[in-house]
Amino acid sequence: MSSSSSRTIQVSPFDLVVFGGTGDLAARKLLPALFHRDAAGQIPDDARIIGVSRRPLSREAYVDVVRAALDQFVKTADKTPEAVDRFVARIHYLPADASSEAGWGDLASLLNSGSERVRAFYFAVSPDLFAPLSQRIRQFGLVTPESRVVLEKPLGKDGASARAVNDAVAEVFAESQVFRIDHYLGKETVQNLMALRFANRLFEPLWNSTHIDHVQITVAEDIGVGDRSGYYNTSGAMRDMLQNHIMQLLCLTAMEPPDAFEADAVRDEKLKVLKALKRIDDRNAEQMTVRAQYRAGSAGGKPAAGYLDELGEDSKTETFVAIRAEIANWRWAGVPFFLRTGKRLTKRTSEIVVNFRPISHNIFDATAGRVSQNRLILRLQPDEGVTLEVTIKDPGPGGMRLRRIPLDMSFAETFGVANPDAYERLLMDVIRGNQTLFMRSDEVAAAWQWVDPIYAAWANNDQRVHGYAAGTWGPSAAVALIERDGRTWFEDSE
Ligand code: NAP
Repeated sequence: MSSSSSRTIQVSPFDLVVFGGTGDLAARKLLPALFHRDAAGQIPDDARIIGVSRRPLSREAYVDVVRAALDQFVKTADKTPEAVDRFVARIHYLPADASSEAGWGDLASLLNSGSERVRAFYFAVSPDLFAPLSQRIRQFGLVTPESRVVLEKPLGKDGASARAVNDAVAEVFAESQVFRIDHYLGKETVQNLMALRFANRLFEPLWNSTHIDHVQITVAEDIGVGDRSGYYNTSGAMRDMLQNHIMQLLCLTAMEPPDAFEADAVRDEKLKVLKALKRIDDRNAEQMTVRAQYRAGSAGGKPAAGYLDELGEDSKTETFVAIRAEIANWRWAGVPFFLRTGKRLTKRTSEIVVNFRPISHNIFDATAGRVSQNRLILRLQPDEGVTLEVTIKDPGPGGMRLRRIPLDMSFAETFGVANPDAYERLLMDVIRGNQTLFMRSDEVAAAWQWVDPIYAAWANNDQRVHGYAAGTWGPSAAVALIERDGRTWFEDSE
């Protein structure tokens, strides 16, 4: 086993203000990620983490909230009492309300009491508060040249609302200060996709329509909406997963090599992919898209209710979407990208499957068996890793028999390290001011420009909402979508 070559380089001193510091995202993701980076020695002694929300907690009471979050969301093996004590010593708390001036003077005094340093504002609150928060930050003169703001999804519910959010934030922060988080981009596998493509001779010459037959990107969840059905019903699978995560994965898979691994160079290339997506609208949405909702079925071996029963009212909000996308450029002409995501599917998995074309000529006779196509599988969830499927001779004296085997690379095993959570890397990138793994506002706008006409077509054509039993891989219409093209979904092709 080779060991990790990673070295921990401390970031500069910073103040991180977490608006929504008492919320679920802070407890589940942000505080544990910061704790891990602190325990690894990456956070300097005088860095401060300042929780803000409306409830009137003392610092001590908030420290209890932080300790409880670490208890729940950090594995016991990963924490020592000393590391926890060191971490909570950085914690501050101030009550302040985005929609009034209460508390903001105290926040200004606290921030101004520190030495000159990086100042990061993390908006872990509902997006309706992004504009009022930005305005208060400006009103109280909190923006310094070394300030940054981090925006959580969802960034709007369509192109117009996303523009409104981006415009409001842009009145206060320059684009170079805005970090739009898509935590999928912080995953090791996603960065490995770039390493595989651009740090190896092997793949890039084959990475085009001459050698690639089609690409599948799946983000499947086994859970349903549960008690979040009210919120989910205003969103749906396309807004929740496809418009952001899946389209970002599509961009990184399909983009041209940037001239440098730098924020704007990478984001310029991703933007070109989004702009080259063939439009889907009233004319072709029926053929290119499937929307669906889960019905009653099973989950984890137990009966599970359908979406409408959980919601308690009628709705057309999709819990599943599948799309046949095409990129109209020289590299990808004629190569379909099948995208799908859904809740209450068979299992939780996120993967990109690059299917290569068949070999040009088969020299083996029928006794050798079928020559399978090569596949490159990039798994993001649940275990991150990359598998390259190749055909070899079945070992032994029994003549030439061919067999497809996986060349497996499970990162955690290979490097003897646990994969860091995506938020760990992304939060440190915010402090370092590295925007490579964050979305630029024109990318967000271009993604909505592709998605908005699909929503419009669904409404204008009153496109059918298919049903699928909870615990299956989605509706038969999604199978038909890919099989019309003579291909099958990855899990059906084993
Ligand atoms: P949450 O648990 O409801 O937390 C919301 C936080 O905002 C609370 O700390 C709340 O505290 C604070 N808040 C509400 N109104 C405020 C105001 N007027 N001024 C200042 N603070 C205010 O929500 P969440 O799950 O953490 O999600 C936050 C955002 O991140 C949402 O937009 C969500 O969609 C997004 N997100 C969440 C996750 C996740 O895993 N939870 C993942 C991705 C994205 P007070 O009530 O005390 O003010």
